[in-house]
Amino acid sequence: MLKAVFPGSFDPLTLGHINIIERASTIFEELAVVVAENPQKKYLFSAAERLEMMKEAIKPFKNIRCLVWDSLIVEFMKREDIRIIIRGIRGMDDFSYEFELSMMNKALYPHIETFFMSTDPKYIVLRSSSIKNLASFQGDVSRMVPPMVAEALKAKFSGSGKEGYLA
Ligand code: ADP
Repeated sequence: MLKAVFPGSFDPLTLGHINIIERASTIFEELAVVVAENPQKKYLFSAAERLEMMKEAIKPFKNIRCLVWDSLIVEFMKREDIRIIIRGIRGMDDFSYEFELSMMNKALYPHIETFFMSTDPKYIVLRSSSIKNLASFQGDVSRMVPPMVAEALKAKFSGSGKEGYLA
């Protein structure tokens, strides 16, 4: 069975992420979306909140599951016997970062392969950090994220309209 993982912070999930997930779901028989919980990182949304939003977003797809993982992604892949890791690429900056990451993951677990998927041009400027920043100033993010994420962002930043979010 052709299985893959798509790991990310998804803080928050954007239409760019969903586009990658949707396209990957038509290629792989099983896709595991892994919501990363890294104690070194500061998130706006808790792991439980990010998982909840992801669960809602993947409802239309039959071959996708999602979970939170708080260790190295390669450990998850070993445990589940999955060889392919998917990463989305918006441009050269993403690529140089993702390329290095793929080398590191390969060094940790040579059995795996990283598949890079180019963003759909419609979503090329969508970045979770910019969206959080925009939302913190009550900017309209409704064309960048699913409706439940737009609501969640509004709730997070309601009453804090004076200060911008520092990613
Ligand atoms: P991470 O902290 O792992 O980079 P992100 O949630 O920022 O987590 O991104 C997860 C993956 O989705 C990464 O491979 C990233 O490059 C990709 N990605 C983020 N935004 C987009 C987008 N608009 N289009 C395509 N891929 C994207």
